[in-house]
Amino acid sequence: MKPSLILVCLLCVTVTAAAQLFVPANQLFGRADSLRGQLTPLRTCYDISYYHLDVKVDPDARHISGSNLFRFTAVEDFSRLQFDLFDNLRIDSVMYNGQELPFKREYNAVFIDFPAAVAKGRIDSFVVHYSGHPVQAKRAPWDGGFDFKKDSNGKHWIATACQGLGASVWWPNKDHQSDEVDSMLISISVPQGLTNVSNGRFRGREDLGDGYTRFNWFVSNPINNYNVAVNIGDYVHFADTFHGENGVLDLDYWVLRENEAKAKPHFRANVKPMLRAFEHWFGPYPFYEDGYKLVETAHLGMEHQSAVAYGNKYQNGYLGRDGSGTGWGNKWDFIIIHESGHEWFGNNITASDIADMWIHESFTNYSESLYIDYHFGKRAGQEYVHGNRRGIQNLAPIIGTYHVNHEGSGDMYNKGGVLHNMVRTIIDDDEKWRQILRGLNKQFYHRTVDYGDIVDYISKHAGRDLSSVYAQYVRHANIPTLEFYFNPDGKVFCRWIADEPAFNMPIRIRTKGSKYQFIQPTRQLTPVSIPGLTRSNLEVDTFNFYVGVLVNE
Ligand SMILES: [Zn+2]
Repeated sequence: MKPSLILVCLLCVTVTAAAQLFVPANQLFGRADSLRGQLTPLRTCYDISYYHLDVKVDPDARHISGSNLFRFTAVEDFSRLQFDLFDNLRIDSVMYNGQELPFKREYNAVFIDFPAAVAKGRIDSFVVHYSGHPVQAKRAPWDGGFDFKKDSNGKHWIATACQGLGASVWWPNKDHQSDEVDSMLISISVPQGLTNVSNGRFRGREDLGDGYTRFNWFVSNPINNYNVAVNIGDYVHFADTFHGENGVLDLDYWVLRENEAKAKPHFRANVKPMLRAFEHWFGPYPFYEDGYKLVETAHLGMEHQSAVAYGNKYQNGYLGRDGSGTGWGNKWDFIIIHESGHEWFGNNITASDIADMWIHESFTNYSESLYIDYHFGKRAGQEYVHGNRRGIQNLAPIIGTYHVNHEGSGDMYNKGGVLHNMVRTIIDDDEKWRQILRGLNKQFYHRTVDYGDIVDYISKHAGRDLSSVYAQYVRHANIPTLEFYFNPDGKVFCRWIADEPAFNMPIRIRTKGSKYQFIQPTRQLTPVSIPGLTRSNLEVDTFNFYVGVLVNE
C-alpha cells in the first residue's frame, strides 16, 4: 500500500469523507465500478494460475506493446469470461489455440467468447496482445500508471504504480485481488543501456537485435496484480545476505548510479534491523524463494512484492519528517520499514476485496511501532502510536464498500495502528499477542482474506470476543466514549456510548498514582468497584485506549 500520507493524504481523506457524508452511497458507484469490483460468474469461472507478461517499453514515445499469457483452471463449465484492461489501450488480438477469439469491451472490462465450452477442471490458456500509450501517473504513487521521469544525467527513469486504480491500467489481467497467480514470468524490453528490474528472481537478459534488451524476471510465489512492477533506469546493483528464520535470504539493491555511495550505508542501517524486528513479530519473511529487493524510484514508494519501490531519498523519517511528532519516527527510514512491513500484511496476507485494504494498512502502520518496540522498547513504540493520533480524522469508516473497488478512509493507517495497540493492551499478554501476529501470517500464508477471517482469528486466539471492538473502530467513523456517573453516596457507575449496539471493551482505569486495573464496561450502566475512586482521582488509560471520557455527577 501506499505510504501513510502524512501531509498529502489529509487532503484526500477530507475530500473522500465529505463525499461519503453528503452523497448517498447508491449514487457513488456506477456500472464501471461494478465491472471492476464485483466477482461475477464471468470472473469466478476461471482460476488464474500463471501469467507471462511480455512488454516492450518505448520511453521516448511513452508507448508500450506486448502480450500477456493467461493460464487458468476452469472452475466450472464456461464459454465466456471477463478480464480487464483500461480502454485507452488497444487490444490487437486475443489468441486461443492458434485462433483469434472475438471480444467485446465495456468500460475497462473485456469479454471474450470461446468457440466451445471450456470444461470444469480443464487447464487452458489464452494470450492477449495489446499496445498503446498507458495512463501517465501525475503524482505516483497516489494515482496510478506509468511514471516517466529522467535522472540527473538525463537518462530515462521509469516506474509503474497502480494500487487502487488497478494493474489493468497498464497490462491485461483478471483485476481483482481475490485471485492471485501461483507464479509469473515478467519480461520487459527496454532500449539498450537501460536496465529493467521487476519482482522475483532475475532469469537473464536477451539482446533482441533491434536496439532493445529483454529482461526476464520470475516470481515463484503468489503475487497480487498491483504489485507487479516495471522499474527502468540506469541502475547499479549490489547485494548482501540476511541469515533469518528460514535460512539465507538474498538481499538485492538496485539504485541510480549517482546514489550508490549514499545507498550502501543507508540500506545497511535499515534493512537487516527491519528484517530482524519483523521476523520476530510476524514470522519468517514470506518470500525467501524470490529474495528481498529495494529498487530506487522517482516516486516515494510502494510495497511491490520482493521488489519494494524506494524513493525516500536516503533519509530517515517520511521524507525527513516524523509524523508522530515524538522523535521515534526519525530514527529509521519510513519507506523501508513501512513498505517492507507490507511483505507480511498486504503481500503475504492480501485482502480479497479492496474494501478491506484497512487490513494491509492498519497492520503495516502498526508494524512501524513494533519496529520501534523491538529496537527501542515497548514504551517507545506506544508513544509513536499515540503520537500518530494527531493525523486521525474520524470522518468516515476505515472499511470501504465491497464489490465496487472502493477503499475506506485514510484513517486506516493511524487509527488502525491505534486499534491494534489497544487490542494488544486488552489481551495483556505480549507473548500471546506476538503469537497471534505470527499465527495470522502462518494461517493465511500466501492467501487472500476478508474482515471476518482476521477478526475471528484474533478473537479465537486471544480467548475473548473482540468482534464489537473491531466493528466499532473499523465500521464506524466515531470512537466510543466511556461515561462515568459519580453518585453522592460514593457509588460509581459507567457505560460505553458507541455506535455498535453490543459494544463492550475492557479498559484500564486507576485512582491517581495506583496501578491500572481492567474494568469491563458495556452499553448498560454497570457499577465500578474500585475502592476510593472519586471524580478527582479517576485516571483512564487514554494513552493506550483511544476513547472519549465523560464524567457526570
Ligand atoms: Zn502502506
